[in-house]
Amino acid sequence: MKHRIIADYHTHTRYSHGRGTIEDNVRVAHDLGLKSIAITDHGFGHIGFGLKYRDIEKMRKEIESLNQRYPNIDILLGIESNLVGLDGTIDIPENYIDKFDIILMGFHKAVMPISFSDAKELFIKNALSLFLPIDKGQLRQQNTQAMINAMNRYPIKIITHPGAKIDIDSKMLARHAAKRGVCLEINASHGFMTTEYVKIAMREGASFVINSDAHHPSRVGDFHRGIEIAMAAGLEPEQIINAEIA
Ligand SMILES: [Zn+2]
Ligand SMILES: [Zn+2]
Repeated sequence: MKHRIIADYHTHTRYSHGRGTIEDNVRVAHDLGLKSIAITDHGFGHIGFGLKYRDIEKMRKEIESLNQRYPNIDILLGIESNLVGLDGTIDIPENYIDKFDIILMGFHKAVMPISFSDAKELFIKNALSLFLPIDKGQLRQQNTQAMINAMNRYPIKIITHPGAKIDIDSKMLARHAAKRGVCLEINASHGFMTTEYVKIAMREGASFVINSDAHHPSRVGDFHRGIEIAMAAGLEPEQIINAEIA
């Protein structure tokens, strides 16, 4: 079965460390005939290139005016937030949650944790576990539980590239995501989730989304690698929120 992807819910711009403007991304998505695009720059806690609080209002205005100028495509203001605490805290303050049309959450290394103990458990231990005899099974459970806590606390729509940069229990994550209506991303840039992970997650009833994670406008709507993974895993378009049967 052929998959046609009609929305790109994960794209970066200059507001974090992408190369293009919001309009550059929108133009490409529009010309490809996508029905929707989300602008999802990195969360406020990302060191070096996280979103700035002062830019949010400006981004909203830009998106409002672009939505008028490009009526055939729905443009969303989103954010790729970071997990910053074992209790599931993400790097969006409560009073900013409503400012976004769509919230993505992923694990990234270069972020400010909420406390020293969270830094130790979430970031230092995961980094050291690559070459020190740390209990990997316990760490994996702890990582997964932190992600589940985040899903319970916030209106997260998509978990970006699960399994990338941090070890996750895919089955447990997928089961909880399915229960909460959260989608798991097949990332066309990183190639995460892998086909194996997708197969495990689909058995738990998870829904998926294929995104470009474009950091350059020319990559917006490039779903190629994600579609390959989805097809190799045997996913049907009904299991992918942004797919249509071609
Ligand atoms: Zn990411
Ligand atoms: Zn990203």
